Amino acid sequence: MSKKNRRRAPQRPTVVFDFGGVLSAGHDPVPDIHALLGGDAGAVGEALWTERGDYDAGRTSPAEYWGAVARAAGVEELSAAEIDELQDADNRYFLRLEPDSRALLHDLARNDVRMALLSNASAAFGEAVRKADWFEAFTLAVISAEERTVKPEREIYEVLLDVLAHETGGVRLPSAVIFFDDRAENVEAARALGIDAHLWPRNGDPHPEGTEPGVSIARRVLAERGVPTD
Ligand SMILES: [Mg+2]
Repeated sequence: MSKKNRRRAPQRPTVVFDFGGVLSAGHDPVPDIHALLGGDAGAVGEALWTERGDYDAGRTSPAEYWGAVARAAGVEELSAAEIDELQDADNRYFLRLEPDSRALLHDLARNDVRMALLSNASAAFGEAVRKADWFEAFTLAVISAEERTVKPEREIYEVLLDVLAHETGGVRLPSAVIFFDDRAENVEAARALGIDAHLWPRNGDPHPEGTEPGVSIARRVLAERGVPTD
């Protein structure tokens, strides 16, 4: 056997996506939630985002989270059906994929590129995302509420690297993980662990003349890394 053949083949890269603002078309479920709850839209929005951190970290239940959002709208009591309705509206909003992001997922899937999701999200959203038609192309999803740790905490990236290592015969190679996220602190935390992380300007935000949308940054980075997307 030649020396060349004995050398370990370079590990196939894994492409890891954040969800909100990267795969989702938008990042503002407040109008949809406000349409259900009524009350003051500003107060609903403030409660929805203020309470979201604990919900995404798995520290509060759907009843506690949606109860707090509803109280901000002046709704004191929610039935189990109403809690489900609010959660469904939130899931539906976020599960609307950006068409260009969806096209990228299709291209990667067609080329058998390993894909994973790393999302700060509730367990309820984790359940919904795994039922999405496109999720079949993903090898796994790391959902913050299920792991009780959120980006940019180091622990959630360790979980990601550990589960990916399990998929690749125990070899842990952060540099073979290409990660896209719309929050700079999440990108920096990933880079600190050696992950090949890149900022994806949030879908739905305006792209001033001359700036590159996230999907074209991703396509350029992937091409540079030799990841097929044709
Ligand atoms: Mg995001």
